[in-house]
Amino acid sequence: MLTNIKKITAENTGLTTYTGTNSYIIGNENLIVIDPGPPSDKHLSSIIRYIGKRKVEFIIATHHHSDHIGLLYKLSIETNAPIYIGKNQVSLFLEYEQRLKDKISLFDSIISTNELSMNAIQTPGHASDHYCFQIPGVAMFTGDHIMGWSTTMIRLPDGNMKDYMESLKIIRNLCNEEFFPAHGEKIVDGKKRCEQLINHRNKRSTQIQNTLQLTKLNLEEITKIIYGKINTKLITYAKFTVESSLEEMVANKLIKKEKIRDTYFYSLKES
Ligand SMILES: [Zn+2]
Repeated sequence: MLTNIKKITAENTGLTTYTGTNSYIIGNENLIVIDPGPPSDKHLSSIIRYIGKRKVEFIIATHHHSDHIGLLYKLSIETNAPIYIGKNQVSLFLEYEQRLKDKISLFDSIISTNELSMNAIQTPGHASDHYCFQIPGVAMFTGDHIMGWSTTMIRLPDGNMKDYMESLKIIRNLCNEEFFPAHGEKIVDGKKRCEQLINHRNKRSTQIQNTLQLTKLNLEEITKIIYGKINTKLITYAKFTVESSLEEMVANKLIKKEKIRDTYFYSLKES
């Protein structure tokens, strides 16, 4: 039997969410919900309407950001379904919603219903507790790790550029399925998308090093040079990812960082 995958997009369109967060409902009669979505009654109603009288076996989430787990507790109450989470998700999920305490159970690397089996793959980077969920041969649910419209944002201290790059390689090497991201459309050639993202990141890193060849610069200045003229709100988000790149390059001793008065400046390490 074909595995049914239903996408319901919440109405939280925005600069970092694109057309909104995608919630996925998988299965025919015994359902799994991935990423219930932001705290919106309208979105909750759409999910419940689609589920109808069918049984939700469990609810899972790719990571703890509020546009993914905002409805986790309410959906669990409404559907009487348990929430399965990874060990490294517990503290972050409870920090967001204490009431989840009595609803959660831990999943292992394989999660199954009597219809299908799914691998939970740890993919830290965008968030430390990020997972991708793979139904072998059918689909890879990539959350915010790999999105359908843009590169993801890596924000310190929970985000980590080194982890992100390693997680991209894990997914590239492991899967041949189509990607179903939490924002944007399905990605048919997942491996190619991984390669593009890895190349993009490496290119940015070279660009930063080239920029620092001439002079020492602070985060603000580097971001403006790298991103050129973009929307001022977008610059704020771009800065988070540039900062993560810079910190990784400092850790790898590719560049150095020094505090001058109250600002950190980055420069190329003298050889
Ligand atoms: Zn996120």
